[in-house]
Amino acid sequence: MASPRIALERVRKVYGSHVALDDVSLDVRPGEFLTLLGPSGSGKTTLLMAIAGFVRPEAGAIRIGDVDVTRLAVNKRDIGVVFQSYALFPHMSVLGNVEYPLLVRRLPRAEARERARAALARAQLEGYEARDIAALSGGQRQRVALARAVVFEPRVLLMDEPLSALDKNLREQMQFEIRKLQQDLGITTVYVTHDQREALTMSDRIAVMNAGRIEQLDAPQPIYQRPISRFVADFMGESNIVPAALLEPFGSLPTLKGTLVIRAENLALEREAAGDDGVAIKGRVAAHAFRGETWHLRLDVGGDRDLLLSIPSGQSLDGTGIQAGQQLTAYAAARHIHSIDGGSQP
Ligand code: ADP
Ligand code: MG
Repeated sequence: MASPRIALERVRKVYGSHVALDDVSLDVRPGEFLTLLGPSGSGKTTLLMAIAGFVRPEAGAIRIGDVDVTRLAVNKRDIGVVFQSYALFPHMSVLGNVEYPLLVRRLPRAEARERARAALARAQLEGYEARDIAALSGGQRQRVALARAVVFEPRVLLMDEPLSALDKNLREQMQFEIRKLQQDLGITTVYVTHDQREALTMSDRIAVMNAGRIEQLDAPQPIYQRPISRFVADFMGESNIVPAALLEPFGSLPTLKGTLVIRAENLALEREAAGDDGVAIKGRVAAHAFRGETWHLRLDVGGDRDLLLSIPSGQSLDGTGIQAGQQLTAYAAARHIHSIDGGSQP
């Protein structure tokens, strides 16, 4: 069966006086990996659980394929879910956990067992069938939860921060494994994380959430390179939001207006690095730190905020002994300067 589209239309959820979902509309394409990205409390889990059926919206509609599921029970929606806590059954074996969704769907035990074993093999858990859940590592539990979510071949897969309990190396490995499984199955997937790098790594598209609304929806590169608002620019790593008055254009660049975004890694300390057309920004070193792959510099440029620079190490700054208070000029190429308030776009 082909993967379905998921369509949300003005979905609203209110807790007391708190608006958790503020008329959210969203189209998830068939077979797409779409990530809900946002800070804690922005409504990611509420939105995911509304699709799953655990949260009942006050208004709006949710469709999966041709079916309006807004009032459909959880178990009628044909959705696999990996919860943030994994929600595994601690008193059952690994195999018992993965068989469970099949037995609930009344598959004969022998067939359920065979399919559960296959799902465990695909999740690289061969040989763990008889283990207790309590005897597994965090990464193994995560794999059991994933195997259980897909064993009944659901049409849709939902995952709520499934990697947040794992350490960095395992998390990065699992990002690729989950993405590969999702592509092999071709299953329409909505994934929740608050980690921008994880969202960029895994997704076809990212919906950035803020206060119960989707602030920007786009592919990873445009989200990263062309944030449409201050909120998205701030959330997607180290961006500078600078009033045009602080930027001195050179080359054929005209005087700029409005508010502009320049990413920390797109600033350099040599003018040549910015090419023929760009801007210069004068400032004083407020702080500097060695971070391994980069040097981190904060320049006081006289605005509300310091200007952040992220300069690759192994280059110009190594061993030069930058001093706090020192005067410096930072440069950015025209193509790396982006307007967020309709001011002039270089
Ligand atoms: P996220 O997953 O992005 O951290 P949530 O969807 O869990 O955000 O929560 C969104 C907002 O709704 C938060 O302010 C949270 O406190 C509130 N909220 C979520 N679930 C409930 C609930 N069951 N009762 C009351 N408030 C809730
Ligand atoms: Mg959450």
